Amino acid sequence: MSKFMSERFASLKAYVPGEQPRDKSYIKLNTNESPYPPAPQVIEAVNSREIEDLRLYSDPECKHLREALAKQYDVTPKNVTVGNGSDEILSFAFMAFCSRGVSYPDISYGFYPVFADIHGIPKKEISLQEDFTISAEDYYNAGTAVVIANPNAPTGICLSAADVEKIVKSNPDNVVMIDEAYIDFGGESCIPLISKYDNLLIIQTYSKSRSLAGGRLGYAIGNEELIADLDKLRYSTNPYNVNRLTLAAGQAALEGQAYYDNNNREIICIREYTSNILLGLGFSMTESKANFIFAKHPKLNGKTLYKGLRDRGILVRHFDKPRIEDYVRISIGTREQMDTLLMTLKEMLA
Ligand code: PMP
Repeated sequence: MSKFMSERFASLKAYVPGEQPRDKSYIKLNTNESPYPPAPQVIEAVNSREIEDLRLYSDPECKHLREALAKQYDVTPKNVTVGNGSDEILSFAFMAFCSRGVSYPDISYGFYPVFADIHGIPKKEISLQEDFTISAEDYYNAGTAVVIANPNAPTGICLSAADVEKIVKSNPDNVVMIDEAYIDFGGESCIPLISKYDNLLIIQTYSKSRSLAGGRLGYAIGNEELIADLDKLRYSTNPYNVNRLTLAAGQAALEGQAYYDNNNREIICIREYTSNILLGLGFSMTESKANFIFAKHPKLNGKTLYKGLRDRGILVRHFDKPRIEDYVRISIGTREQMDTLLMTLKEMLA
């Protein structure tokens, strides 16, 4: 650290993203990307004309994309804002709505504590139940803002919309942020509730179910005033936060929704197929409604599994954290990739 770094960031622990190795090609099942390319409409939209137009700034209002998202989710454009990945939206939301602190599950997305720390927000980590489920009551009258990934990461376990609604209802004076990064793989979105509650903010991303992790595009849907607050911070930080190519890609992706719906159904099928074979190999796992499986084996601990797979050219994610250190999180790849994974695990177990 340089002697110039602001004192308030001196003890900040940065978020550690999953590996993105460049040294050799791995079967990459570690950061929950889609194994499928973006929709043909996206590939068509990001064309040489759009590239020539990169000399111009992008639309700070992101008007067309907001309109398209509003239509997709049956809300108005004033209920939507967009960001450079949902991470950016989450960061703005922490900055905007968490002055009284923030509560979130102790096992969840590793970026939440980092957002809290960078914005100087007091954190309240609430333990998951023994079986890794979230007990909705633990978040009633929280006295702070609340952020919950639904489905949760890295467990993939879902809360019902009815449970989310109870949490939102019991916290009328605080914002409840529901991070639906993985909602398109079997969960129940709470977007329909935003017209009923002024304290509910839904955050989604194009990174997982729309094959655009590298495009960096996320969005928030909520009451008009919450969205205006986020936009105030967006304009005060980086009004051109979504670049021209990504704006075009994001809009075109919505025209290709049928393609993505089909891919997502396929990913769910491959998840169930892989889970069944893993069970047969002696693994146990949480009930995932996401594009990953969270599994452990009685004979191989998490680190050994991670390292053994890495040595054999397959990347999965391991979290060196109490209660989950025995697990690995395996993103769902193509059927062929999962067959290679399963064969490799069989060899390791033999
Ligand atoms: N929320 C959760 C729960 C995630 O796992 C991720 C992916 N790392 C994100 C948000 C951020 O996704 P992105 O910034 O790519 O939209």
